[in-house]
Amino acid sequence: MDKWGDIYKSIGAKPIINAIGSVTLLGGSTPIKEVKEAMDEADSAYVPLMELQEKAGDHIAKLTNVPSAYITSGAGSALTLATAAFMAGDNDKLIQQLPDTRNIKNEILIQKVQHYWYDRCLELAGAKLVEFGSDNKTTKQDLENAITDKTIAVHYYAVEQNIDPNALSLEDTIEIAKKHNLYVLVDAAGQVFPLENLGKYVRMGADIQCVAAKYIGAPHSTGFALGTEEAIHKLSLQSFVGYEGRRIRGVGRPQKVDRQEIIGCVTAVERWMSLNHEDRLSKTEIMTNKIVDKIKHIKTIDVTIINNIIGHQPFGLTIRPNVHADFTIEDLVQKLKSGDPPVWTRKSLYAPEGDDCMDIHMFGLNAGEEEIVADRIVDALK
Ligand SMILES: *Cc1c(COP(=O)(O)O)cnc(C)c1O
Repeated sequence: MDKWGDIYKSIGAKPIINAIGSVTLLGGSTPIKEVKEAMDEADSAYVPLMELQEKAGDHIAKLTNVPSAYITSGAGSALTLATAAFMAGDNDKLIQQLPDTRNIKNEILIQKVQHYWYDRCLELAGAKLVEFGSDNKTTKQDLENAITDKTIAVHYYAVEQNIDPNALSLEDTIEIAKKHNLYVLVDAAGQVFPLENLGKYVRMGADIQCVAAKYIGAPHSTGFALGTEEAIHKLSLQSFVGYEGRRIRGVGRPQKVDRQEIIGCVTAVERWMSLNHEDRLSKTEIMTNKIVDKIKHIKTIDVTIINNIIGHQPFGLTIRPNVHADFTIEDLVQKLKSGDPPVWTRKSLYAPEGDDCMDIHMFGLNAGEEEIVADRIVDALK
């Protein structure tokens, strides 16, 4: 560990300990060793990328039990390319017209209760988000009422670790959308565990399910779309490779992936599907408990273990200042950040208003760093 962060220091950037989890803000994730080795091997030759994308997609589709798949520049790009695919289809003239959507159906419906941070990716290719439902509930009728002759697709944000009982379910969304001949797009970026969730929404009837490969040990910049033959074919026509590969300029050109990244992504999916997940979960639980054991005696905070194994970020803990505390979570965040090395945490983004707390996740911690995080919290609250 004596080389920890030296490469960043050499150009004057300050490395940090990441106790937040998988956030792009801090570099997101670290590709695993097998992935880096495979990426190095990919250097040995050039390969036509149209063909590589097709073969890589076939491979991922087989592993995840869906008809078709395509590797993209993150789940964000998969969302954008999917909307472009829905709007322009396989019409090269329309493909080259986007993001100008004149005379193209361009409305994508999203439940008001499901508005979220990444929905901006759905508008990049020219689509327009149209809300349905109210601030606190969505009904089937709300969806029926929102459909117009400009509607092209319905979006659904899958968060199985925290299902919103007031949201319209994916089952109902698919049923109504299909009755009206609309595409269904699912952001399932973090739904990488249990393994059956990879591809499940497509098997339920969605046209495209977007996954973030940053969560499974691939290069942080990759992701993939899983879907029907038709939808994934249309998505592939929007890809950056089409610029030269087909001499057709889709919207995907600024969202490039390297051949090394494509190989890295396939390798990550392969390894994820055959990984011993009990072992992965148990290691994460042990790290979580180490922190909890060291800080649970602190009188000014309440510490709870997060009892979740769904998705990409199992376990972790929540720290909440209690009635004895004379500090806020923001004070604690700043204190941890100002130490050496800085420990980055943040106020929980998902806690209700007024609930001042922080979640700590193991995802971004190197082996042993959990001890440092715990010691630093103890120090900060002395
Ligand atoms: C991370 C994430 C994205 C964006 O994925 P990238 O691979 O970073 O582009 C989209 N949606 C959700 C829910 C995510 O967690």
